[in-house]
Formats: sequence, C-alpha cells, structure tokens
Amino acid sequence: MTGLKQYKRLVVLGSGESGVGAAVLGKVKDYDVFVSDFGTIAQKYKDVLLKENILFEETKHTKEQILNADVVVKSPGIPDSTLLVVELKEKGITVISEIEFASWFTKAKLIGITGSNGKTTTTSLLYHILKNAGLNVGVGGNIGDSFALQVAKCDYDYYVLELSSFQLDGIESLKLDVSILLNITPDHLDRYEYSLDKYIDSKFQIIKNIDENTVFIYSNDDENIVNRLPRVTLPSSSYSFSINELGSEFARVKDSEILIDINNPLRISVDSTSLKGKHNSYNIMASVTAASVLGIQESQILTAVETFQPIEHRMERVVVLNDVEYINDSKATNVDSTFYALDSIEDNVIWIAGGVDKGNDYSQLIPLVISKVHGMICLGKDNQKLHATFGGFVKRIENAKNADEAVKKASAMAGKGFTVLLSPACASFDLFKNYEDRGLKFKQAITKLTK
Ligand code: ADP
Repeated sequence: MTGLKQYKRLVVLGSGESGVGAAVLGKVKDYDVFVSDFGTIAQKYKDVLLKENILFEETKHTKEQILNADVVVKSPGIPDSTLLVVELKEKGITVISEIEFASWFTKAKLIGITGSNGKTTTTSLLYHILKNAGLNVGVGGNIGDSFALQVAKCDYDYYVLELSSFQLDGIESLKLDVSILLNITPDHLDRYEYSLDKYIDSKFQIIKNIDENTVFIYSNDDENIVNRLPRVTLPSSSYSFSINELGSEFARVKDSEILIDINNPLRISVDSTSLKGKHNSYNIMASVTAASVLGIQESQILTAVETFQPIEHRMERVVVLNDVEYINDSKATNVDSTFYALDSIEDNVIWIAGGVDKGNDYSQLIPLVISKVHGMICLGKDNQKLHATFGGFVKRIENAKNADEAVKKASAMAGKGFTVLLSPACASFDLFKNYEDRGLKFKQAITKLTK
C-alpha cells in the first residue's frame, strides 16, 4: 500500500472492464473520479458509471480534465508511447494499471500468473483448486470481473490474477505473494520497440517487488527465462518446473506422471486429467506447485485437477463425427501455442490455420507438419505465406473464406481416425470479430455438418 491519502483526483483512461472497475473502486474510496475514453464506451459500462454517479466522457480526451489528476489508471490497451501518457508522465503524474490501483486497497494474498501462453488455463486451474479446497478466493486480471471491482464490492482473502505484460508494465508497489512465470516467446513486440529483451523485462516485473515471503515459480525449460535469471534478484523461495527431468526441479514429468515435490511428494497421472498435451503439463505443474506452497492438501489438489475441464477455445474437444475428432483451439493466436497443439495430437491432422500474422516465424512448426499434418485449410484473407511455407510439406492445401467453408473442406479431406484441428497461429480480426467469434463459428459450422 502506498500513500493512499496523498491522492485525491483519479482519472481513468479507457473504459473497459478494468477501467470501470478502477473507477468504481476509486469512488468507493472517496476519490474525485473522472473516466475518459477516446473511443465509444459500451452501454453496459456506461450503465455502471451512471449508476455509480461517476463523471465520464467518450470519443475524446479533454486535457484540462485529465492533466489535473493526482493518479491516472490507464487501460492496458493504451500504449505508453501515446502522447497523452507521455505528457502525464512528463508532468510527474503517477500512471498505473488497474491491478496496481486495486492492490492498494486489499490485504488479500495475491497470486499472479504471467507468460506468453497458458495464463488463462493456469489461472483458472489454480482458482479451481483453491476454491475446491474451501478458500475464500477471487479470480481476476483478464478473467471475469476486474480485480478492482471485486476489491470494491466483496473483497476476498485470496486472488488469482492473470497478468498480461501490459498490466505488469503499470505496476509500482504491487507485491505478489506468489508469482508464476510460465514461458516467454515473442509476442506483442510492437509494444516493446520490437525488442525481445524489453518484453522479457516486462514479464519479469512479476517479481519487481519481493520480500522474504515471496514465492516465485517458473519454467526451467524456457531459455528466455533461464538466460535472464542470473541478472535478476530471485526470491529465496523459488521453485522451477520442467518436463525434461533435468534433476533440480521441484516439479517434473516422468513417463506419464507429473511429480511435484514441495511438501509431500505428489503424483498426478496425465491420464487422470482432461488437460492434454505437454503445454498443459506445464500449466498443471505451475498451478499445483502454487497450491502446494499455499498449503492445500494433496487429496484436494488431486480431486480438483481431475475435475477441471478445459476452457472454451483452448484445445476444446468439440465432437467426434463419423470417426473424425474436431478440436477448437481458436485461442492459439501465435506460433508457440499452435506448436503445442500439433504436438499433442498423434498424427493424421487436418489443420485449419491462418488469419492476421503478427510477423510469424513458422519454421518451428515444419517438422510437426511433416510428421502429422495430412491436409491444410488456410482460413485468412491473405494466405500466401502459409502456402509458401507449408505447401511443399502437406498432401493437400486449400483456402477458405469463412468457417463454414473451412469445416466443409476439412471434413471432406479427413479420413477415419483423423483430427480436424483449428489452431490458427494468427490473430482473427481479418475475418472474425475476435478469437471467440472464430471458435464459435467453427463450432456452429460443425453442427451444420450433421444436418
Ligand atoms: P493465454 O491466456 O496466455 O493466452 P490460454 O490458456 O488462453 O493462454 O491458452 C492460449 C493458447 O495457448 C491456447 O491455444 C492453448 O492451447 C495454448 N497453451 C496453453 N498453455 C500453454 C503453454 N503452457 N505453452 C504454450 N501454449 C499453451
């Protein structure tokens, strides 16, 4: 908690889930609150602001109303390079994220999870374990209600927070009790001056403020993490995990078992959970290590891992139809997540990929495509790069302009025992509203096949 009393005027830039949550919390804590959004504000958020009597503006930023702030909460979507933000910082005004702001007003234990991939899955699994163990726990960050709104309305004893690098960029004094760093692969580099090093700095903000009680849990298999470790101050309680059995880890995978050695040794059979694939073994190791550190009993952990269901759009098994399995991994918006998706399927894949390519380097996928992918459907406005990269390695490659066409062509290519996998490795906004829309349209298209 820093200097709560010295701040009076709170300006919130950006009026989405986190901005509105911060505004409500500010109001509850007697700040003079003003919300400013350069775009239009969704009606559901306007309703909240009106109900709470919070002043706001949309489609503009009125400087006189903003530059008089004592503290500014900035939406993670607004880059630091935006002129208004630069001006605020030049004036010495504190600009923070909603996560930082909310942390000033709660005494709860905070568990933060970051990484380029796997944040939502790991956050949801850990929340599921803690909730099933009877803890008074909330989940926030990018999932559900914002952290700030929860602190304002119904403060919990524990929070499991999914933290993107943009949210981590806006922290000052926030101290997490448990910090999890899953992996770092190039993503969002446009926000980091195309410097991987700067993106890594951002992810390591997760252990910016530590003390003797901080616990840090990280992957020992990720070279971007491991190479950075000698240059950071690690908490004394640091636990690593690996699927490669290097020897020094607290969590590892042996044969088809996940072994975790924190308090009492714990064994989880990979077959006992519906979270399949190596990537999910990482997510399980990270969540279970955190749960063990927090003192949750082994039997409770095991039951929760067994009952956890994969989240929509992440290796979601949609249906088996005419002996063909359909999997929706629409959330795979970068190459690394698609790597794990392909890796987790044995062979005979019809792969639906494509969309908006964020400067992808597809080379790491080529061996998997050679060994597993039988046919490919390119689902994007511009499919040239996919054809150029993979055309020589798959028996058939075709284009589709929408989900219906993609599913029809994929099902025609698929033989008995095949898997049709939507794992695009690209963003979705050329043909869809977002990845959820893409996943839903994929599932609707599968339903149409049955008619
Ligand atoms: P995030 O919240 O970080 O985007 P999600 O849990 O939503 O992560 O998963 C995003 C995508 O990444 C999905 O396609 C999923 O199958 C894949 N994925 C999940 N966990 C991992 C991991 N540990 N490493 C790589 N890819 C992962």
